[in-house]
Amino acid sequence: MTRRNLFNYDWKQNMLTTLIYRSQVKPDLRQASIDKLVLDAIIKNTENSITGILIYDGSAFFQVLEGEEAVIAELFRRIRDDKRHSSVVLLMQDYSACRRFGAAGMQFFNVKSSDKDAILKDILTFSKIREKYLQDERIIRLISAFLTYCGRHTLPSDFRSAMWRLEDRIHFTRSQWPARLPEQLCQFALQPIVEAFTGKVSAYEALIRSPSGTAPIKMVGAAAADKLYHFDLQNKKQAFALASQILKEDERLSVNLLPGVLSSIPGAVEILLNQITAAGLRPEQVIVEVTETEAITDQESFYRALKSLRIAGTGCAIDDFGAGYSGLGLLARFQPDKIKIDMTLIQDIHLSGVKQAIVRSIARCCEELGIMVVAEGVEKMEEWCWLESIGIHLFQGYLFSRPVLNDTCLIRWPVRNQII
Ligand code: C2E
Ligand code: MN
Ligand code: MN
Repeated sequence: MTRRNLFNYDWKQNMLTTLIYRSQVKPDLRQASIDKLVLDAIIKNTENSITGILIYDGSAFFQVLEGEEAVIAELFRRIRDDKRHSSVVLLMQDYSACRRFGAAGMQFFNVKSSDKDAILKDILTFSKIREKYLQDERIIRLISAFLTYCGRHTLPSDFRSAMWRLEDRIHFTRSQWPARLPEQLCQFALQPIVEAFTGKVSAYEALIRSPSGTAPIKMVGAAAADKLYHFDLQNKKQAFALASQILKEDERLSVNLLPGVLSSIPGAVEILLNQITAAGLRPEQVIVEVTETEAITDQESFYRALKSLRIAGTGCAIDDFGAGYSGLGLLARFQPDKIKIDMTLIQDIHLSGVKQAIVRSIARCCEELGIMVVAEGVEKMEEWCWLESIGIHLFQGYLFSRPVLNDTCLIRWPVRNQII
């Protein structure tokens, strides 16, 4: 590859990107190896017209890389696989108008041998950072946050995913429950919400399925719009009947309801409570999950219905928190017992500094408000480890159990590997 003039970058042809990550340096990596790593990086990056900085604080790396989009993407793939460090967390990836570190090449800064303020000053001197660019200010803030919070992001050693494995346990099975009851418009699959550490099932979520067992998108599409709310309310009877066969004393059932059911069907709460007691359940055993997937037209009657549910002792949860409309506006108006963080924020959280910052602050906010937090869509051990390490204890996801039609059988629980 030919070397380009780093300052007159042709943005039309080459998408200039800036990528920033942090990582944990292997504890046994010696200074000589770090020196070699830096030297190798300088040579390789120069060949590929990659510029930037690398900061080392004695336990973590923080690197800014800038260059052509595809070249940076390829380099980052290799960086992730490099065994000399772990917990590589992406902090920023964005297009840029110009290179900030073109003059410096790949500059190395060691926090151990220099004062933090002096390092920041040096970086600003080396760089072409112009504070009138908002993006530049963000890069400076990220650098100074790293310098300020050195070591704070280290994952506790107890929560390294290699410390854990999963163990299958048959939780419960009701083989006599028919897989499909005749003349039913729908069925339900159950998925446990687990307290992974204590090995307890906190609740089961009832997820609607078609008579043939398919997932809900087609179901919802199949029902006429005006009948949808009534259908959503009526079919809960069946979810409660299923739960009454399965729930233990201290276990609960979560059901999903469109907000429109609560706001537009007169007496919806009463109907729901009748269904609950008719199935032999107590209202305290039921949690109603609402997602604000649609604009709620009659806000007042929606909140009135939630109030009636509370008076009856039924639990309430905000589902898919952080996705769509289901967010801070709803929380500011109404504080539920439980918040379920949407799976888009959970997936690959161990790799994303952005998701970590968002989820950490949701968890802190809920702690302050006394609200339980559930992480939805947990599929990987690494995701669970990261979430558990910041104090989230309730989980729902394929890692522990998939939804099972009319039943619930195997749950996989994390157990600690023997320390050798
Ligand atoms: P939800 O309430 O957020 O339910 C969780 C969904 O995530 C379920 O999809 C479940 O199968 C899926 N899921 C659970 N763990 C994982 C995981 O680790 N990875 C991935 N990729 N997915 C996971 P499902 O059953 O397809 O339901 C989709 C949505 O349909 C539900 O999302 C809920 O909003 C809605 N829904 C289900 N049943 C009802 C109902 O009776 N009434 C209403 N109004 N909506 C319902
Ligand atoms: Mn739900
Ligand atoms: Mn959800």
